Amino acid sequence: MTMLVDSHCHLDFPEFESERDTIIDHARAAGVTRMVTISTRVRRFDQVRAIAEAYDEVYCSVGTHPHNADEELDVTVDELVALSAHAKVVAIGEAGLDYHYDKSPRAAQAQGLRTHIAAARLTGLPLVIHARSADKDMAEILRNESRKGQFPFVLHCFSSGSELARIGVELGGYISFSGILTFKNSDDIREIARQVPHERLLVETDAPFLAPVPYRGKRNEPAFVAHTAAVLADTIGLSDTDVHQMTTDNFFRLFSKMPRPA
Ligand SMILES: [Zn+2]
Ligand SMILES: [Zn+2]
Repeated sequence: MTMLVDSHCHLDFPEFESERDTIIDHARAAGVTRMVTISTRVRRFDQVRAIAEAYDEVYCSVGTHPHNADEELDVTVDELVALSAHAKVVAIGEAGLDYHYDKSPRAAQAQGLRTHIAAARLTGLPLVIHARSADKDMAEILRNESRKGQFPFVLHCFSSGSELARIGVELGGYISFSGILTFKNSDDIREIARQVPHERLLVETDAPFLAPVPYRGKRNEPAFVAHTAAVLADTIGLSDTDVHQMTTDNFFRLFSKMPRPA
């Protein structure tokens, strides 16, 4: 069986409480050999790190989700850098801009994003970027910050426009597709997937949310990433095996701190 990876999930969320062993078993059975469980609050990072420590297959990030940006404006670059020194921390984030929900004031989201960018630049760890309905401001921040010094990043759960995808790639970023890629009405997202260079493509679940077809509407889990990979293969005209290989290679190139299993 080929190796699959889930570049973005939230194993600390209550949807998985008391079922984590089962969920990881499902992932193993589906050939999903590595998962990155993504931090949404630095103040709750201990729970995320504990999950990464409990399973060989699981690594984690550290950061503040844009929804929670205003709660954690006191998080400093130094704090993120210090927390990221742990062997299981392979990324910074998720941080970004979400103008769809606007749960934090936009200025707080932007400030949080810049703090996380600085930590990514200092550590060389990739920044996991959450961008929703904020294409113009995201493009501007990425351009300006990249000019100050490059940093690795991924635009996760890509649902923005083709221009932001193009700029992301131009700045050296990766584009990660979630179950949204499999939805019937996602022709525009599939078209973007065709335009992204193969060496920048990633797949993820964003579990427990956004389960791919045929599980749409149900609780998502890392094992389901195979369904998104299959649609990606279809979309870009490669075999499933080639897409597993390619997205796994890309994953280990981006999350370069993570040792690749033999
Ligand atoms: Zn996100
Ligand atoms: Zn997420």
